[in-house]
Amino acid sequence: MSSDWAHAPDVVVVGAGVAGLYAGWRLQRAGHQVLVVESARHVGGRAAGMDVPGSPGRPLDLGAMRFTSDHVLVRAMADHLAVPYRQLAATGHADTLFYLRGRRFRAGEIAGDPDRVPYDVGPDARGRTPDELFEDVIARVLDKAGAVVPGTRRDWNRVKEELELGGRPLFEYGFWNTVSDHLDLESYAYLRDGNGYDCNNWSAGEVMQTQLAGFGRAVRYFRFRDGTRSLVHALRRAVEAHGGQVWTGTEVRGVRLPGAGQRIELSLRETGGETREVTAPALVLAVPPRALDLMDLDVPAVDLPSWRQDVESVVSHRVLRVVLGFAEPWWEDVVGRGATRSLTDLPIRQVYYLDDHRVTGGDAVLSVACNDDRAYDFFTPAPAFAHWRRGGALDGPDPHQLARIGQDVIAQLRLLHGTAVPSPTWMVVRDWGHDPFGGGYHGWRPGRRGSHVAARMRRPWPRHDVFVCGSAYSDIPTWMEGALSNTERLVQDHFGLTSPDWLPPATYLGW
Ligand SMILES: Cc1cc2nc3c(=O)[nH]c(=O)nc-3n(C[C@H](O)[C@H](O)[C@H](O)COP(=O)(O)OP(=O)(O)OC[C@H]3O[C@@H](n4cnc5c(N)ncnc54)[C@H](O)[C@@H]3O)c2cc1C
Repeated sequence: MSSDWAHAPDVVVVGAGVAGLYAGWRLQRAGHQVLVVESARHVGGRAAGMDVPGSPGRPLDLGAMRFTSDHVLVRAMADHLAVPYRQLAATGHADTLFYLRGRRFRAGEIAGDPDRVPYDVGPDARGRTPDELFEDVIARVLDKAGAVVPGTRRDWNRVKEELELGGRPLFEYGFWNTVSDHLDLESYAYLRDGNGYDCNNWSAGEVMQTQLAGFGRAVRYFRFRDGTRSLVHALRRAVEAHGGQVWTGTEVRGVRLPGAGQRIELSLRETGGETREVTAPALVLAVPPRALDLMDLDVPAVDLPSWRQDVESVVSHRVLRVVLGFAEPWWEDVVGRGATRSLTDLPIRQVYYLDDHRVTGGDAVLSVACNDDRAYDFFTPAPAFAHWRRGGALDGPDPHQLARIGQDVIAQLRLLHGTAVPSPTWMVVRDWGHDPFGGGYHGWRPGRRGSHVAARMRRPWPRHDVFVCGSAYSDIPTWMEGALSNTERLVQDHFGLTSPDWLPPATYLGW
């Protein structure tokens, strides 16, 4: 039930992903009457999960699934809201299985037997795993420019924006353009195939930071015990506990900016087709770039060119996730119990082995992340969301599509592991390329000065109280931490809030 004020709140937040719910909670607590409007029937956006098919209550993450020891805001907020999480066993880098150019080998074998690697690499790359080579190359590029590998997010941001290579700022380069002096072509192919991500169109410093701070050998990971959705649901409860409202199944279709002193007008459409209008003095758009494009936004004509340029400063990265459940963790016979992922130049590219069955029981879960463009092109068209379980009905738009994806994935798993793969007990496909997301995560385009764009995006038209937040325009756009810290900056800078008492003092909030 919506109360009367919900039709004329102080602030409307569009989008109930982690950023929108966080904005709603912080602003409502500070005394604003907040309405959060979400087009999906559920909250969470890219952090929402689902129940394992056929196992009600057992969580399955389809987007965000972990955070790192550097993610101060996620962790402090989870502690404050009493959302349980656990540290994952250290990544078994030596156990990582590779299947590249038709050859199978382990990371731990490479140093002792460099010829296992089927690439004719130069002396600098011989005996190095792709992860090690990545680290070497980044260190060499930075060293040539007189810098060392940064140890903190704040230092990374300095390097990304201030470091110069050949007289040009680092952020003007795409990543692979910066490494050509340091890699022969075979080493380049090895690094690119063995890395699992294709991110050539991201700016150089960002790829470096993502690789080392997100996937480096020193990184420690945490997962929410009850799925990432437990964080999202705790946030929703926090919004509502303080009197805020969250409307799901309600899409914001249009936004009309008023004259000075008037309220912003929003046109809403509910899942059933019913339309309604809401007005508010302030509007927070907590949605990714594709969703901004889809909305009929009444952007002031004078601001349109720079708005368009800013919105397009980040690339939407297409991601398809396929998650499979098996009665037994059959892969442990091949990769052992320590391995957390395998990498291949086959279209599946990356396989993550989750340890849920050891912690909570139930099926053994394996997640295939088709994260790069060549993988995505192989598997699409794919349904936005579909799932199947043995003995049950298929839930999704096109059974043939799902069956085809399932067969392709199993065939590639067989080749990657060199063993028979049993039939899965269930399978889920989530293609984040569909609207309103347009991609799973985002990366800054070469040539865009992120700190400037990020500040402009938080308040794109200074004459209007319209704000944008979320992970896409943060300094770490592939992480929930980016979504939260970017939103915390917004509420501090533009709504006058002070840092919450549960957040460690002087927590760095990025650009
Ligand atoms: C496969 C995958 C794996 C990931 N893994 C991790 C991970 O392990 N750890 C991590 O920290 N991050 C991870 N991420 C990134 C993380 O999920 C995102 O950075 C974060 O969830 C983004 O939150 P957000 O609130 O900014 O945006 P979103 O989650 O995109 O939320 C936007 C919300 O707005 C809604 N919306 C859009 N348009 C409208 C409209 N017109 N009207 C109303 N509502 C609208 C959408 O439905 C959505 O709910 C992953 C992402 C993907 C896709």
